[in-house]
Amino acid sequence: MGETLKGRTAVITGSTSGIGAAYAKALAAEGAAIMLNGFGNLADIESLRAAIADEHAVSVFYNAADMTNHDEIRNMVADATERLGKVDILINNAGLQHRSLVDDFPIDKWNALFAVNVTAPFVATQAVLPQMRSRDWGRIINTASVNAFITSPGTSAYTSTKHAIMGFTKSVSLETIDTGITCNAICPGTVRTNMSEHRLDAFAAERGVSKEEALDAYIDQKLPFHQPMRRFITVEEIAAAAVYLCSDAGAAMRGAAFTIDGGWLAQ
Ligand code: NAD
Repeated sequence: MGETLKGRTAVITGSTSGIGAAYAKALAAEGAAIMLNGFGNLADIESLRAAIADEHAVSVFYNAADMTNHDEIRNMVADATERLGKVDILINNAGLQHRSLVDDFPIDKWNALFAVNVTAPFVATQAVLPQMRSRDWGRIINTASVNAFITSPGTSAYTSTKHAIMGFTKSVSLETIDTGITCNAICPGTVRTNMSEHRLDAFAAERGVSKEEALDAYIDQKLPFHQPMRRFITVEEIAAAAVYLCSDAGAAMRGAAFTIDGGWLAQ
């Protein structure tokens, strides 16, 4: 497609499905070599890896690091550095959600969300920074959410982690401000992926209608979702922002929240 990212290499966590897989496809389409990561059926992951590599004629590898394991995260960065030659771009995208009121929010779920949504990006960022500094070029993108700014009942842990990752994004951006390394957050509204699909299943079941029949009512809810544009945002719309942030044109984007939210935060 394009050559904006030709010669660049990217590690994308949680890229075996949803938004992460779309990042991988979009960056590969602009010439970047990719290290995929995430859970899933190994045959499906291999199909995704091979399809991206074949379609865009770039190297694509997969590392199965569990984002809750700090050594596995560091080993993933080392593996990417060895197989891709370097890591120019890190996209911290793996994420977990769990809904429950604070009154009975399970502490193990709270800790799991912080481990994957906040601590893993910290560990991965720490692992890539030395080589990015040595080349004076790097792109770090954290997938946050509109929940980096607002919340809805039942999402205390998710909202807290997304506020935290926005704060981390700002910190890294200022600590690298005199370098060619940028750190920004992409903040999506509601995108139809595995993460939102479970919620949609429950919503349809509660109303005794099919999922397709429930779509309009789901997107129209005041709480916990209200996306004024009244449609789901596509993974491709999110991934296009990542291509821009990774390009040389995005060099002045520092510590920014790139919201793609169908007008959600404009209200
Ligand atoms: P998804 O469930 O399709 O993707 C999540 C990815 O993270 C998967 O690849 C999964 O395997 C991976 N993952 C989860 N735990 C992991 C672990 N311990 N180690 C390694 N990988 C792990 O959902 P998605 O919607 O594509 O989510 C991607 C990111 O986008 C998340 O950070 C999420 O919070 C964020 N987000 C999603 C939406 C939405 O509406 N879907 C909105 C705003 C932000």
